[in-house]
Amino acid sequence: MSKFVFITGGVVSSLGKGLTSASIGLLLKSRGLNVEMLKMDPYLNVDPGTMNPFQHGEVYVTEDGAETDLDLGHYERFVGHHMHQRNNITSGALYMDVIQKERHGDFDGATVQVVPHITNAIKKSWLRLEKPGVDIIMIELGGTVGDIEGLSFLEAMRQFQLERPVEDVAFVHMTLIPYLRASGEVKTKPTQHSVQKLREIGVQPHVLICRTTQKISDENRRKIAMFCNVRPENVIEEQDVAYSIYQVPVMLMEEKVDEILLKQLHLPVPPIDLSQWNDMLTKVREPQGKVKIAVVGKYISLTDSYKSIYEALTHAGIANHVEIDLLKVEAEEIEERGAATVLEGVQGVLVPGGFGNRGVNGKIAAIQYARENNIPFLGICLGLQCAVVEFARHVCGIDDAASMEWMEPGKEDISRAVVALMDSQQNVVERGGTMRLGAYACWLHEGTKARSAYGVEMIRERHRHRYEVNPAFVQTLQDHGLIISGNNPDSDLVEIIELPNHPWFVATQAHPEFRSRPVDAHPLFRDFVTAAKNFS
Ligand code: GLN
Repeated sequence: MSKFVFITGGVVSSLGKGLTSASIGLLLKSRGLNVEMLKMDPYLNVDPGTMNPFQHGEVYVTEDGAETDLDLGHYERFVGHHMHQRNNITSGALYMDVIQKERHGDFDGATVQVVPHITNAIKKSWLRLEKPGVDIIMIELGGTVGDIEGLSFLEAMRQFQLERPVEDVAFVHMTLIPYLRASGEVKTKPTQHSVQKLREIGVQPHVLICRTTQKISDENRRKIAMFCNVRPENVIEEQDVAYSIYQVPVMLMEEKVDEILLKQLHLPVPPIDLSQWNDMLTKVREPQGKVKIAVVGKYISLTDSYKSIYEALTHAGIANHVEIDLLKVEAEEIEERGAATVLEGVQGVLVPGGFGNRGVNGKIAAIQYARENNIPFLGICLGLQCAVVEFARHVCGIDDAASMEWMEPGKEDISRAVVALMDSQQNVVERGGTMRLGAYACWLHEGTKARSAYGVEMIRERHRHRYEVNPAFVQTLQDHGLIISGNNPDSDLVEIIELPNHPWFVATQAHPEFRSRPVDAHPLFRDFVTAAKNFS
């Protein structure tokens, strides 16, 4: 039987609950336990796939092609193993499932209600993760206690603890302890209120994790413990980190959160091995120089929109023993001010994925600038498509080359669509086209930079796109010097391209950022940063 740890949040959103859950997951795993993670999102969208990155941040794609919440990225980066569709559930998906069953007559004419039908569906999504060999299932509830949307999940938690032996369930609640500069005091009242709210529903947290900028005094710890009905040693302080989010697990280990949870769950406390993680942190702490990388995108103002890209760059920095000096560039700024002005002094240019045509000309200008000035370049998904269009326009002389995605609907011109929609037979089509989602194989060609980065012949990377390099143009592109470094072994579609006679110019149709780990940088990001480090 598996044990369950539930993590809720209170007081404010954006407390870093995902990071904290992932950090606890890492600590438990580093003690040799087998940990499963689940993120529950209370919103009514069926999945985050169609949500605006400005509102929701990045859509994290799993190996099995699920479009999930970005917290799954934290889980993968910290805990280290692959997440799947089953590791993220939304209210929308649960309601859809229950309503479909109702239409199908599965409830025998009963009145279908939040309690018990939705709460049962919620509990079923937890029990699906319980398998022999899975020691602990960590379940994080998105949002903040008191949100209307989260109520059914909290109710399900309350029921669940009654249905399981007491030692099977632990509740962790994360809150904020604000510091009032004017009076020089930390305030515990919001935490008290948030725990009260939780207790009203019938959930008593065992552990409180308090985000704070100040040290919590013993006196305050006792006060929080007393008012929140928690043991003083179970009041955990999580201070803002000094230099890296990857410090969080170490901080939480010093506060003994993993040991406390294991004791609560009546599990033995095996020794911990965090040596690989600590080695990585040493490199983060003592970088030998900086590398200036420009990321040219269109959702630049919101950090979370390119979360995995920034993390993968950080990992590549760690692998190269340098700090990444990130220049976030709004593609439209390049359209207004020119690539040479905006990108002055950068040692590498990265164009990430994206949808629609806003800013594409800025991205293309950035790529042209990188190509012509021998600046290392990494293109990801839309970044590859823009690189192919740039090459077609400026090297092959197809002046009006474009992606079909950027053409007016109903007026698509296939004759200049170097990037196009395909049907399953690899014919160009004007409408439809299914999203290529999840991991696909790619065959890497001998002698290419991509092959030398990966070091193997066959790789698998995650995809999330509709458009592809149009096979009708591949010969022309190659005749003008573009190298196809990787193809899909089944469809022969172009997966990776690169340029000869350039220090490092590689673009991929996939999203390698999702597979990068702090202790194991992604080979393409790693070699990109190595090339950038050597650029002068
Ligand atoms: N919009 C492009 C497509 O659908 C690229 C998608 C992406 O960058 N993820 O093919």
